Amino acid sequence: MPRYNFKCSEAGYKCSYEVDGATSEELIPKIKIHARYAHNLFEVSENTLVKFKSAIKEKTS
Ligand SMILES: [Zn+2]
Repeated sequence: MPRYNFKCSEAGYKCSYEVDGATSEELIPKIKIHARYAHNLFEVSENTLVKFKSAIKEKTS
């Protein structure tokens, strides 16, 4: 089963937060909650969402 991993640093933040899940879709709400509390991003724009999605990597192991 593929596992997906998001690292906040991959999205351009100086932040050590990371989260993983079975699907990339499952990660989006978790990333949004993190962005709100850690980065004061109360509204996630389309551009920011694209940036977050591109930072989600599929684990090979
Ligand atoms: Zn972060």
